[in-house]
Amino acid sequence: MMDFDLFVIGGGSGGVRCGRIAAAHGARVGVAESRFWGGTCVNVGCVPKKFMVMAAEYGALAEDARGFGWDIAKTGYDWARLIAAKDREISRLNGIYTRLLEQAGAKIFEAKASFIDAHTLDVGGKRITAERIVIATGGHPTGLDIPGAEHAIISDDIFVMKDMPRRVAVVGSGYIAVEFAGVFAGLGAQAHLVYRQPLPLRGFDEDLRAALAETLGQNHVRLHPSTTPTAITKDGAGKHLVLSNSEVLEVDAILFATGRAANTKALNLAAAGVEAGAAGEVKINADFATNVPHIYALGDVTDRLNLTPVATAEGHALADTLFGNKKRRVGLETVPTAVFSIPPIATVGISEAEAAKRPDGARIFLTRFTPMRHTLSGRKRQTVMKLIVDAKTDKVIGAHMLGEDAPEIMQGLAVAIVAGATKADFDRTIGIHPTAAEEFVTLRTQTRVVGPETGPV
Ligand code: FAD
Ligand code: NDP
Repeated sequence: MMDFDLFVIGGGSGGVRCGRIAAAHGARVGVAESRFWGGTCVNVGCVPKKFMVMAAEYGALAEDARGFGWDIAKTGYDWARLIAAKDREISRLNGIYTRLLEQAGAKIFEAKASFIDAHTLDVGGKRITAERIVIATGGHPTGLDIPGAEHAIISDDIFVMKDMPRRVAVVGSGYIAVEFAGVFAGLGAQAHLVYRQPLPLRGFDEDLRAALAETLGQNHVRLHPSTTPTAITKDGAGKHLVLSNSEVLEVDAILFATGRAANTKALNLAAAGVEAGAAGEVKINADFATNVPHIYALGDVTDRLNLTPVATAEGHALADTLFGNKKRRVGLETVPTAVFSIPPIATVGISEAEAAKRPDGARIFLTRFTPMRHTLSGRKRQTVMKLIVDAKTDKVIGAHMLGEDAPEIMQGLAVAIVAGATKADFDRTIGIHPTAAEEFVTLRTQTRVVGPETGPV
């Protein structure tokens, strides 16, 4: 008899959910975590990042309050106080994660795990056997290979910095780059965003990308589009980031926000015969199985859609399938997502450029307006909303928004879109007034039609 029915490597979003649900179904479960319970999201991702975005938003809100009769004096920013408050909340969350596992009956190991063979693991020096094994080891930030790269920081470092840098260059224009450029600028630092595309957030809808670039500029982030860094030099406490256009940015910190890679190096996958892709990601089928049928992988280590709710949904589905007598899969076609820029972006379904490639084409409804708050605050800030409607079926196949509360609004719209709502369903839904969200049900004037003949406009 093996030591466990299921052993989960990695106590992050996906691993904890999988271990907890499997144990609740009655399986004998072990979970190993080598660094921090709750994983990336809780410790160096979604949660502390969102606290920092909230911190940055307060500065602007204090300014905006003037238009409503308040006089709020801003007398400096205490970074250390934010870090201490965030650390307190995160230790509370770490405790919740271990408690949830233990209460469900799982055995936890605070140790690194690696394969000895396809059923045997080395867990902190102990040999442990399991019928089934789940790889849920997540990923880590990767930097650029340029001279002086050792002087740059990665996202993990931000959460433990003693002082906030006054001048920051952020490299990249994906989720992390855009979010932290907003955080630093919002907290009063001089922020640069250096990226190789003409617009930030490649892959997102073009109208949102353009509006985001405009908003970042209005928030005093200096944009360096179509530019790559070539070297970093250090001069005392200051750093110099040399750009491909020969400009040199003098800053206190350089953040590489240039992507992440799967945590598989230390796993000794070869001992179990598990195959990984070129970037180290574990390959799985629709039922989360690797090429070794009793070894599974889920979440960021598979590098498909690297979002917490995806990892937890996968962990839950796998546990239900293996031990709950409920075979489940997770569809990744219509996953809503948000970028916590200031203001945020949220999106579900396909972009206009993708819709233009569909044989039946799509109708586009686009609106752009000054949100109610800023008619009094005087802040130059626009909200942009777009609906993409299949020209043949009338189904809404994409919803996109840049503006305050976009993620909160999009979660509800995602339910409608996943359920197959048509534009006619949106049109017969009564709005909630006065909100920005009501615009999504009052968009009556078609902006344009796109399709294989017209192409994107
Ligand atoms: P992880 O949460 O990374 O967990 C893997 C765990 O495995 C880690 O705790 C690691 O220590 C452990 N581990 C690794 N190797 C071993 C080993 N050999 N033995 C034992 N343990 C091991 N997603 C969102 O949906 N919304 C957001 O707002 C958001 N913001 C983010 C902000 C940042 C800065 C970052 C970096 C990510 C963000 N993400 C966000 C992504 C999200 O954090 C990940 O998609 C999610 O954490 C993936 O969960 P996971 O379980 O696959 O991996
Ligand atoms: P992303 O993959 O989103 O973005 C990476 C950025 O780095 C892109 O702008 C990319 O440019 C650029 N880049 C990559 N290689 C180079 C290079 N050699 N030279 C110059 N630029 C380069 O990664 P992130 O690190 O921002 O985040 C990792 C993942 O974590 C996200 O994709 C997301 O899944 C998740 N996450 C989710 C969040 C959320 O839900 N709000 C928040 C934060 C992270 P290009 O576009 O040209 O390739």
